[in-house]
Amino acid sequence: MSEITMPAQGLPSAPQPRSSEAAKPSLAGLARPALAAALQAIGVPDRDLNMRVAQLWHWLYFHGATDFERMLNIGKALRQRLADHYSLARAEVVSEQISADGTRKWLLRLAEPGDNRRHSEVECVYIPEADRGTLCVSSQVGCTLTCSFCHTGTQKLVRNLTAQEIVQQLLVARDRIGDFPGLTPPQDGWLPQPGARFVSNIVFMGMGEPLYNFDAVAEAIAVLSDGDGLSVSRRRITVSTSGVVPQIIRLGREVAPMLAVSLHAVNDVLRDQLVPLNKKYPIRDLLDACRAYPGLSNARRITFEYVMLKDVNDSDADARALVRLLKGIPAKINLIPFNPWPGSRFACSDWDRIEKFSAIVYRAGYASPVRTPRGRDILAACGQLKSESERLRARARLMLEAALALGAD
Ligand code: SAH
Ligand code: SF4
Repeated sequence: MSEITMPAQGLPSAPQPRSSEAAKPSLAGLARPALAAALQAIGVPDRDLNMRVAQLWHWLYFHGATDFERMLNIGKALRQRLADHYSLARAEVVSEQISADGTRKWLLRLAEPGDNRRHSEVECVYIPEADRGTLCVSSQVGCTLTCSFCHTGTQKLVRNLTAQEIVQQLLVARDRIGDFPGLTPPQDGWLPQPGARFVSNIVFMGMGEPLYNFDAVAEAIAVLSDGDGLSVSRRRITVSTSGVVPQIIRLGREVAPMLAVSLHAVNDVLRDQLVPLNKKYPIRDLLDACRAYPGLSNARRITFEYVMLKDVNDSDADARALVRLLKGIPAKINLIPFNPWPGSRFACSDWDRIEKFSAIVYRAGYASPVRTPRGRDILAACGQLKSESERLRARARLMLEAALALGAD
């Protein structure tokens, strides 16, 4: 991939709400019960609630409306009341970067609940291919787990996103790529071919551990997959987890999206170091939960993610042990070349090592696509998501230290 980085764009065509609107609570991204409560709060009678929620739902999630004025099947008086009390604002797009391979990364600013003056930031990444478009969403600001190869885990500030904030990532993405009726998609040649949906798949592989934010993730998936609105089927929504065993069981029972498990090591000694959560839920318990995941078949497999770390987990013996471990589980194996980040102590396995590893896995009957790193030039690949402000702060600290050191001379 070429390494050209486009600077943050001027954000031209997407609808942005007026700033005075931002202060009002937004309805965009809410689930049906929350929408009903918002309508009730402005005096919509109970007998009308279902109908009104259905109307709003269609405008919000089919049309991607950013303005109550468009909602012509809702009477003028109610439209006005809605506009007086609510907005349809999305999370603010602080920057948009477009990689040389068409990957787009948005840095989104979220208000801190209960305190509009404080903000945190998350990243959201869109990866277009000819026959599909995948949106990688964040579920937390930062992550409390400290996997030793992951950049996100080094971020200090951590909070759960609300379901609304998770859904808004899809709204923002579809705004930005012109994917609602009436918008014009950018003509850059990267979007999926005609006939394919622009955002056909969603993966919870951005910042955070989705199963540590279970309720919001489950609620968001209900909105994202609703057939009357955003309509991304649960079979095309994948939740990636580092292995929170009790929540995997709940996820299968209550939500049933596709599951991806960040395995990364074939024995507990190594996995304890790479994914410290392994000390709590070791490999055997993790794989038992995977075996019990409902609805598994050859057409519905669990994805096992395996990051290729040079001289750490990438030997032929590791590959053979991996195949043995997964025996009997309908599985796909995703080998992920390690994405280095400043200060990390790992290196990515050499290409011929990855190929040898992949060949062993392939001979055992697993299609083992090596996930091509996308968007490396904009730090958008897995595990590189860490908000811009943290980076800026780190840089400021370095400069301060440098200045102090100079002063000391
Ligand atoms: N917390 C969840 C989901 C987000 S991380 C999880 O851990 O599964 C998404 C994927 O990126 C995980 O498989 C994670 O292990 C992997 N990853 C993290 N840092 C990486 C890095 N520097 N290079 C390659 N993959 C990485
Ligand atoms: Fe958190 Fe996943 Fe990164 Fe581990 S790999 S620190 S669980 S985001």
